[in-house]
Amino acid sequence: MIKLSDQLSELKGFRKNFVDKLKKLNIETIKDLLWHFPFRYEDFSGFSKIADLKIGEHATVQGVISAVKLYRTWKRRMFIVEALISDDTGSVKAVWFNQRFLLSVLKKGRIVNLAGKATESSKNSVCMSHPVYEVLNQKTISGNEETKHTGRLTPVYSETKGLTSRAIRFLIKPVLENLEKIAEFLPEEILNRLRFPEINPALRQLHFPDNPEEWKIAQKRFAFEDLFLLQLANLKQRLWLAEKKSFSFDADLEFLKKEFSRLPFELTQAQKKALWEILKDFKKPHPMNRLLQGDVGSGKTIVAALAALAIAKENKQNAFMAPTEVLARQHYATFKKFFSDFDKGVGLITGGEAIVFYGDNLETKVKKQELIKKIADNEIKIVIGTHSLIQKNFKFGDLAFVVVDEQHRFGVKQRAELLRGSRQVNTRTSADIKSALTLPHFLSMSATPIPRTLSLTLFGDLDLSIIDELPKNRKKIITKAVSPSNRDKAYVFIREQIKKGRQTFVICPRIDPAEINGNLFIPETKAVKEEYEKLSQKIFPDLKVAMLHGKMKSKEKALTMKEFSEGKTDILVSTSVIEVGVDIPNATIMMIEGTECFGLAQLYQFRGRVGRGQHQSFCFLFTDSFSKTTQQRLRSLIEAKNGFELAEKDLEIRGPGEILGAAQTGVPDLAMKAIKNPELVKTARDEAVGIIGKDPELKNYPLLQKRLESFGKEIHLE
Ligand code: ADP
Ligand code: MG
Repeated sequence: MIKLSDQLSELKGFRKNFVDKLKKLNIETIKDLLWHFPFRYEDFSGFSKIADLKIGEHATVQGVISAVKLYRTWKRRMFIVEALISDDTGSVKAVWFNQRFLLSVLKKGRIVNLAGKATESSKNSVCMSHPVYEVLNQKTISGNEETKHTGRLTPVYSETKGLTSRAIRFLIKPVLENLEKIAEFLPEEILNRLRFPEINPALRQLHFPDNPEEWKIAQKRFAFEDLFLLQLANLKQRLWLAEKKSFSFDADLEFLKKEFSRLPFELTQAQKKALWEILKDFKKPHPMNRLLQGDVGSGKTIVAALAALAIAKENKQNAFMAPTEVLARQHYATFKKFFSDFDKGVGLITGGEAIVFYGDNLETKVKKQELIKKIADNEIKIVIGTHSLIQKNFKFGDLAFVVVDEQHRFGVKQRAELLRGSRQVNTRTSADIKSALTLPHFLSMSATPIPRTLSLTLFGDLDLSIIDELPKNRKKIITKAVSPSNRDKAYVFIREQIKKGRQTFVICPRIDPAEINGNLFIPETKAVKEEYEKLSQKIFPDLKVAMLHGKMKSKEKALTMKEFSEGKTDILVSTSVIEVGVDIPNATIMMIEGTECFGLAQLYQFRGRVGRGQHQSFCFLFTDSFSKTTQQRLRSLIEAKNGFELAEKDLEIRGPGEILGAAQTGVPDLAMKAIKNPELVKTARDEAVGIIGKDPELKNYPLLQKRLESFGKEIHLE
């Protein structure tokens, strides 16, 4: 018997050539193979008699091979295999191009199924061109042998080079026939209530269904499984946190009000509400675990900063983590600018520098080691850096609040690491995090507007605060798709704007490193460099053009950013490193090259870089592709009223993967698709609440508990 845990490389019947190719699809065990689910089915289930074949229709016929021949077209030098198949009603010709090996398979006298479209042959008779074939074991025509490729609903899998769906079916079918019984981990009561099939038949029906109803319910079952496990993991996380203590206090509102009144603007209602929700969490004796969501430019930083001030007022520490150094510096600058009399220490620590700020003009560069010591001694109340803050594993004296900015930039895995790490820092030892009694409050911020169903599923362990309102003084950004023939006009326009004193971003596509065989960053920098050269030498030789990309040293990047934000450069050509949080009010034009390479959410982020000051801003979307989807996507970007609306649309058109980007693919495929189905999400949630409510340790469900543990590892939640 075959077991789920069996390694394919150790099984007879799996040739090395297949094993290697499967590995490319991340399939190494029997479990991986069987959980490589079909993404659609071909309906080859209805048998026709040969005499009934109609031109243009899809059908499966069964017959005996009465003749086979091979010939070659002299014009196109192509090999053609031609076979004549007969049943009791007639004969049909079938042809295949360039598949000489078929001669050894389709031998005269054998019984075969052919499935495909009936076409008109030259002599006005019916013919099957390139049909799917399957040679049967039976000796006479009967139609009742169990088949893989024809005469049924046939699974279609995602393929890799040299590994077709046909080959995958060929591998999976015998595995299913010799598989040891899998233990069912879903509670029986749930299966009964939801009328889901048990795991063994479900798995068979998913690959080789008897009818569409069977695969639909099997697919639903597996999607439910993942959603249910996600919900359980989230609930357990909540329970775990609820047992922990954290620093709890009543924020000094008088003090905060004073800080408010010093700001050069009034907080929006949504900002006040979000801050209030955070302060309410601070009163509770358990650690906050909250996600602050808001469109780009909605002013999340100031909300988190005020919360941090409230903590600092109590002589406790804050850690502010940004995904890039550029952004960390910007946060540091925000503190300096808005809270210039704060004298309890704001520290900035990055790869290249360590700075401390103790209120008005008291800013000193210090040695890194010195700053690290001050942090350990609780002499710095607000510490700003990248996520190396926790990865470097240095100690805080008395950390009470962790803020993670732009958390969507961190993958599921990194997010879990951040959470884990932020707990760790306060225990002073990295020993056993789970036994830590006191944990800091945790706030993550994201500008990716995530539809509610999605965030409930993925981040169900987090409480949500939403800033759904932009500061009043913002003007709508004029967004236009520019065709190649109008490129020159766009350049003329940009020149005019720059002459008026404005600045421009030019974003070039970043090619996913995974797609280029680990050749990290090379195409990325090339695209930017080419564009930089073109703009600085040919188009705008009289203007100041600068370039920014991920391969530059962090010092260079910082300098380039600084010069741009001080208005010393006119045009900044950049990769998507510019994406997050950068705030430069004088930049009013965002020009995006190769628009089709970016997700909608990402485009939305880019656009949010402009439109932050009092001047009218513009976003130009360049594309060479005029496919319908590209046009449709650009239109929804142009029409979107806010990020949430766009996210809902993105979820509809392209699914959750697109919204979250590749980094989030830790979540299973089916579950990702199922998230589009709010009803199933709700069912999974209700069932999870039901089970955890009566048996939080899952003592009566040992198999479920075991599965949950391995699931946590799979998606890096644990
Ligand atoms: P994001 O939510 O994208 O992180 P930021 O926090 O960077 O946005 O804020 C964007 C800009 O808006 C900053 O320059 C900030 O100072 C400013 N800002 C924040 N809140 C307000 C407000 N209520 N009114 C006016 N400007 C604001
Ligand atoms: Mg921000």
